Amino acid sequence: MDWPVVNDGGDPWPSIVGTATHDWLAGALESHNREKEPGRFLIEERVRVDDGAVSGYRLSGSCDAYDTRTHTVIDHKVVGESAMRKYKTEGVREQYRIQANLYGLGWENAGYRPETVALAFYPRGGMLGGLWVWTSEYDRQAALDALKRLGAIRDALIALDPEARPRMWSHLPATASSACRFCPWWKPGSSDLAVGCPGDLTPDQATPAA
Ligand code: SF4
Repeated sequence: MDWPVVNDGGDPWPSIVGTATHDWLAGALESHNREKEPGRFLIEERVRVDDGAVSGYRLSGSCDAYDTRTHTVIDHKVVGESAMRKYKTEGVREQYRIQANLYGLGWENAGYRPETVALAFYPRGGMLGGLWVWTSEYDRQAALDALKRLGAIRDALIALDPEARPRMWSHLPATASSACRFCPWWKPGSSDLAVGCPGDLTPDQATPAA
């Protein structure tokens, strides 16, 4: 919609720690390639997920790592203690699972044959030994379904034109959750979507992104 971003993300420390950790992990995998197994890991490479044929958009992304020996897509996540506990007990976020499979599709488009997708969770406030890895069989259909969904949302937006006809928003249900605090358009208490989306939190429940 090209509406202005209203959520600055709050305290930047989590993303600073996350970026620094990604840099360190890239260096660690490069060292492994150099000293132990040349060429094993492809690191921070850009993959083309869709050329527009499925979603209508040209989409690409930088994947944290690809293990050419085990054909595993690897995505690093740096998380707080409560998120780590939740993912271990309740399962990982659907968004993460789909993201990993979209990277898998990107690697497949590049001529590789991914078999497994892995999310490597590092504790933001703990020790390296707290690393916990979630894995799943690569699911091409999950990636294709997500791309088709994106195209369907775009088509619905064009057809309904909720910007000019705000009542049409009711035909585009959003599932608000605690993850709304990470959304660039999250504005607690907002009653005008063109200014910001209230998500599912009242202003006094709102805390900066963590
Ligand atoms: S429901 Fe949440 S994630 Fe969706 S637009 Fe609103 S604030 Fe963003």
